[in-house]
Amino acid sequence: MASPEIETLTQALARLPGLGPRSARRAVLHLLKKREAAMAPLLRALEAVNERLVTCHVCGNVDTTDPCTICADPRRDARLLCVVEEVADLWALDRARLFPGRFHVLGGRLSALEGVRPEDLAIDSLIRRVAAGGIDEVVLAMNATLEGQTTAHYIAERIESFPVRLTQLAHGLPVGGELDYLDEGTLAQALRARRPVS
Ligand SMILES: [Zn+2]
Repeated sequence: MASPEIETLTQALARLPGLGPRSARRAVLHLLKKREAAMAPLLRALEAVNERLVTCHVCGNVDTTDPCTICADPRRDARLLCVVEEVADLWALDRARLFPGRFHVLGGRLSALEGVRPEDLAIDSLIRRVAAGGIDEVVLAMNATLEGQTTAHYIAERIESFPVRLTQLAHGLPVGGELDYLDEGTLAQALRARRPVS
């Protein structure tokens, strides 16, 4: 039996994705035993991120600066834009710099079932970015679901009239954050073999 404070901490950790009661207990025990080496740095890191957490007004990424680190990076190819459903997809594709360009996060996918309409997603801001010019290629990296593909099709229609190359991944992305489980070779291959949207 632990005190209510320690129990609260354990429960909060257990609710994190990828953890569970058992892992949370082990993590808490580790933090308690390594107060200076583990707990203090974790606390400082959490505070720093929590204080400065913002959504990038350009791409919708979550970061501690606005524009985000990716949008502000001059080494990125600004002519290449990859459209994803969620921040998790962006982070996975950005892992190991698989994609050299910039991103646009929609914040979800069109869904008649869940009542998600185009105006609920960051589609107008995407069209404005494309309309502003300077983009040669838009890569649609939606999930390989009916809703993901419906979303891709809708965006393709809206972008059609602009002078940009429109491509899609060779394979759609797996659903919601599952991308993290794909190895980099598979992701790199899906990007390399991207094909024009027909
Ligand atoms: Zn950004």
